[in-house]
Amino acid sequence: MSEIIERPMPTPDAATGPYWAAAHEGRFVMPRCNDCGKYHFYPHPLCPHCSSAKLEWVAVSGCGKLYSYTVVHRAPSKAFADEVPYVVAVVELEEGPRLMSNLKGCAPEAAKIGMPLKVAFRKLSESVTLPVFEPQ
Ligand code: ZN
Repeated sequence: MSEIIERPMPTPDAATGPYWAAAHEGRFVMPRCNDCGKYHFYPHPLCPHCSSAKLEWVAVSGCGKLYSYTVVHRAPSKAFADEVPYVVAVVELEEGPRLMSNLKGCAPEAAKIGMPLKVAFRKLSESVTLPVFEPQ
């Protein structure tokens, strides 16, 4: 059963559309450079490692570790009032990129730097699904 809540939503564009479309289908993808083979995130029009424009969205493992985090105790708006306290996490993927996300299935006091994480998906609306991370 998915939960539907009202809150600020991502606004997919040409650069981020593939990420959000895949997430909504339960797939986790990252841009990869077809010249140097490295992944990056957030999306760029050129590879930040070698400046190539030969980029491709590819499925990644969804596995990583907790690189850093903070616990939000005061909701930034009423839309988040029912969610505090929650963890804002920086996750380092096995493929290299780091991204900001939230932890699921992990009490804030149980979060530990370096803990292994795996992507999960949280449906925010009929058109938006947010990749989040849970302990492995
Ligand atoms: Zn490259």
